[in-house]
Order: sequence, then C-alpha cells, then structure tokens
Amino acid sequence: MDEEEAYVPYVPLQQRREARFKTLASSSGNTKEKQQFEDIQDLEKEREDELNKKREKQRRERTLLDGAAEVKRRKMEEDALKSVLQLRMEEEEKLLKELAGQQRKLVSDAELATGVEYRDSLPATWTAPRYIREKTDEEQEKIREKYHISTEGEDVPPPCPDFQDMKLPPPILKYLKGKKIVKPSPIQIQGIPTAFSGRDMIGIAFTGSGKTLAFSLPAIMLALEEEGKMPLMKGEGPVGLIVCPSRELARQTYEGILDMTKALAEGGYPQLGVLLTIGGISMQEQNDVLNKGLHIVVATPGRVIDMLTKKRFGLEGCKYLCLDEADRMIDMGFEEDVRNIMSFFKAQRQTLLFSATMPKTIQNFAQQSLIRPVLVNVGRAGATNLDIIQVVEYVKQEAKMVYLLECLQKTPPPVIVFSDNKNEVDDIQEYLLLKGLQAVAIHGSKTQEEREYAIKAFKSGAKDVMVASGVASKGLDFNEIQHVINYTMPKEIEDYVHQIGRTGRSGKTGIATTFVNMNTQEQTLLDLKYLLMEAKQRTPPFLAALEDPNAGQGGSGCPVCGGLGHGANNCPKLEDAQRRKAAEQNRDQGGGF
Ligand code: AMP
Repeated sequence: MDEEEAYVPYVPLQQRREARFKTLASSSGNTKEKQQFEDIQDLEKEREDELNKKREKQRRERTLLDGAAEVKRRKMEEDALKSVLQLRMEEEEKLLKELAGQQRKLVSDAELATGVEYRDSLPATWTAPRYIREKTDEEQEKIREKYHISTEGEDVPPPCPDFQDMKLPPPILKYLKGKKIVKPSPIQIQGIPTAFSGRDMIGIAFTGSGKTLAFSLPAIMLALEEEGKMPLMKGEGPVGLIVCPSRELARQTYEGILDMTKALAEGGYPQLGVLLTIGGISMQEQNDVLNKGLHIVVATPGRVIDMLTKKRFGLEGCKYLCLDEADRMIDMGFEEDVRNIMSFFKAQRQTLLFSATMPKTIQNFAQQSLIRPVLVNVGRAGATNLDIIQVVEYVKQEAKMVYLLECLQKTPPPVIVFSDNKNEVDDIQEYLLLKGLQAVAIHGSKTQEEREYAIKAFKSGAKDVMVASGVASKGLDFNEIQHVINYTMPKEIEDYVHQIGRTGRSGKTGIATTFVNMNTQEQTLLDLKYLLMEAKQRTPPFLAALEDPNAGQGGSGCPVCGGLGHGANNCPKLEDAQRRKAAEQNRDQGGGF
C-alpha cells in the first residue's frame, strides 16, 4: 500500500464527536440519533464534572496533607532545635553541678569535721537611726532602686544614703571629708549597714566603686567596740582579718585603714593596732605592731598562714573575716589557703566576700558557706563601669607599638598600658623610654622593691605611664587614671572588666582603648561585643559583624565567668581551669614529656 494513501491524520475523539454533532445539528433529519448524541454529551459532561470534583477534592486533600506534612516537618525541626538547646542547657547544668560538687563548703575542716553549724548572724550593737528603720519596705526599695542596688537575703538591713545615718565617729567623718568622700557610694549605702548589723555578706560592685571602704569601716568599728569593752594586750587580737589576693592590694587596703585609725587616735579615740602581713616586707616593721594589742590584720593568704602557723598571732578572738576579690582568690588557687585560714578561727565570725565579678558558681558556693548572707549587687556582676568610654580598635600585631605612641596622645597622663605577657611589658617599657616617655613597669617577675618603686613613682605623678601585667596590678587604686590601654585584649572578659576599671573611678569619666586583631579569639571578641552593647558603647563594625553561633538563646551570660558571648560549655575560663587540672593530674601521675 502506498504510504501517502495510508496516512490518516489522528483526530482526537472529542473533536470527531463534535464534528459529527455539528453535521447532525445542521442536517434536519435523524433526530433520534441527535437525541442519543446529546444524551451521551450530557452523560460525558456529568462524568467530566464528577471527575473534576474528584480531582479538586484530591488536590485539596493533597494540599491539606502536604500542609500537615509541612507543619509536622517544621515541628520536628523545632523539636530537634529545642532538644539541642535543652541538651545544651542540661549539659550546662550538669557541668555546674559537677563544679559545685568539686567545691567544698567554705568553712574550716575542723568545723566540717565536728559538724558545727551556725544558724544565726552575729549579734551587733549597731542599728540604723530610727527614722531609717521606720521606713517601709517599699520606701527602702525605692532608695535601692535610685542607686541601682539589688539585694537578696532575709531581713536585709536598711540602706543608709548618708554617712551621718551610719553613726560614724566624727574623726572618721572629718577624714572622709578631707578625702572628698562626702556621700556614700551605692555599695557603701547598702554594704556598710549590712556589715554593721553583723550580717554575712557577698558584696558585688564594679571596680572603683568604694568597696574597700565598705569592708574597712566595719572592721575598724568592730575593733573600736572590742577595744572599748576590754583593751587588747600584747599577744591578743586581731579582731578583724582582711585577706587580699595580691601584695599591692593588701598594702593599699592597709594604708587606708591605717590613715583612718590615725585620724581616730588624733580625735581622742583609742589607738588601734593594724598589721600588714605580706611577703617581702621586713619583720622589724611587723614586730612593732605585734608588741602591742593587735586589732586588724590585712594580709595575703600565704603570709598569714605562715604567721598563724608560727603562732605570731592567733584567730581565737577574731570575729570578722573579709575576703577581698574573693573570686580571684579562688581562681588563683588560694581556696585551700582560705580553708586553712578558717581552721584557725575558734568561734563564729562574720564573713564578707567582696568582688567586682562574682560568677554564679562562686555565688552558690559562697551562699552555701555563709550564715543568712545578704547579697548586695550594684549593677550586673561583671558589667563594666558606665563612666568609662570604651574604644576597641583593630590594630595589626606589627603596628601595635607605633600605634601605642599615637594612642598615648589621646589624654594627659597618668596612663596605664596592660599586657598579659611579661616580656611584652618589658618591651613596651623599653620602647617608651627610648621615645623619651616617663614609664615604669610591673609584672610578676619583678622583685618586691621594683614593684613598690614603680607603684610609688606612678602614684606620686613622677612617672606618666605604667606598663603592667594584669595580674600584678589587680585591684590597685590609682587616682584619676585618664586612660587605660589594653595593648593585648585579655582572654577572659572578667580581666578586661578589672583592667579598664582602673579608670573612670569615683564618678570620673575615663577612656579605655583596647587593641584587638586576628590573634584575639573569637569567643573573647563576642564577649567584648556584648559587653560594649550592654554598656551602650560604640560597637566597631568588625565586632558588630561578628556572628554569634548561640544567638537568640537569651540568658544572662556564662554562669562561670559572666561573659555574655558564650555559655558554660565553651567558657575560656573553665577550659583553662580544666586544662590546668588535667596537667596537674598528669604531673601527679608521673606523666609528662
Ligand atoms: P575602691 O573601689 O575601694 O578601690 O575605691 C576606689 C576609689 O574611690 C578610692 O580612691 C576611694 O578613695 C574612692 N572612694 C571611696 N568611696 C568613695 C565615695 N563615697 N565617694 C567618692 N570617692 C570614694
């Protein structure tokens, strides 16, 4: 068969039917066939409609099903995210519990062994003036709110917003006035009445907030009271012990107390004996005080244990113990020393823990160990002083030294430059000297004489710049520091807070400039970013652009170190502590290289 003839183009059935219908419609005859055709058409239309309905139903059902599947999928994703967060939180909780388990109560081994447990605070004779006592809880809370003081604890003593309300002896008021200290600072408003009431206390306040006075005055008043009851003879005392983590901090506290006791004696009050017990000072100096009644000892942990062991004095009559920079003390490994010191106490004492930063782990630990403690917090623990203008700059490692010179032009002296590294401290000092600047340096490897000379020269204004390692200068109070330069950003945000806290003290504004670069860990940068945001400071674009892997989780910062850019499971401070511990264990087990 010829192919062309055989070709019949395909016409779909529907079209063929329609063509047939048209022919039928145009022809007059054969109505029966026409009727039949119309019936078929109706039937097909019905079928078509039915089919369409069915399809529509299926489509709707499918969307519903699909929607349900989508919801289910999203829920699964959320659940997965939640369980990751939950898991992270649980891990964090476990970690904190483990940490708490590792920490024993901050009481002496003797007390632990005999199960002695005190339930009541020490009785005190001091009370706030009547008009203050009669203020309602709401009125007291209003005062606290005004000064941004928050408290926790049972029967918190009332805040006293004036020194006159604290019933201080006139020579002390005169002394304070002479130092231009006329109104108590927030930590003093709540801390002094709390300590005067005999209460155990955890005082949290930013550096430069006047916490030294808040724990020194109660020690002095208690000593005066005891001396008034029964004068102390040679070999008796002390009544109060203040322990500081560094020699410089101890000396500074000692000098403040000494000045106040001198003012009291000049004002006709009994002369109180105050002893400084730190390494590197002459025994001769100490003997003079030890030959009389001893009222207050200010010490570093190692030296006070030495003195107690040698029975140069005892703590049988000691009623007041203050640990300044308590968190530091525990961080620096003085925990056993503190416990050891406590074993020398023979009766109940009033215990005060003071610090600028107080991570939750240590707060819990301290709260377990104190009697009806009052927690006094001025601003968030670990937050920076709002009187400091914080500038963070990206400076390449090799450009730092030259840029430092430029930075030093920002303000008049005195200026402190911080670096973590002892060699770097020496290098910076050498460079500045070479450039004709009056610079001194302190770090852990300098002798006591060198350190004391540097501090004296800098404090007196003979030297303009002090280059220091963070640890060596911890807690030192230098008046009116104009500018703090962090040549290297400290790894732990708490150290940053302490370092920049050397400026902006006593309500004055200061500047802190911090150099960061690619050597700065991202974790540290994140902590810094959040700290700047919290203190409403300018966040440089390179910090603002930094993405936070934990963003959106909320929370009030790392419970271990207070940093806002990470949690306990990636806390650099905790990692460091664990690394140290592992190294120690390795060493104890004879491991090593
Ligand atoms: P601190 O936080 O104890 O290291 O004190 C920081 C500085 O603030 C010290 O130089 C104190 O003399 C000073 N200071 C303490 N209390 C007050 C106050 N109520 N008013 C003004 N300055 C104060």
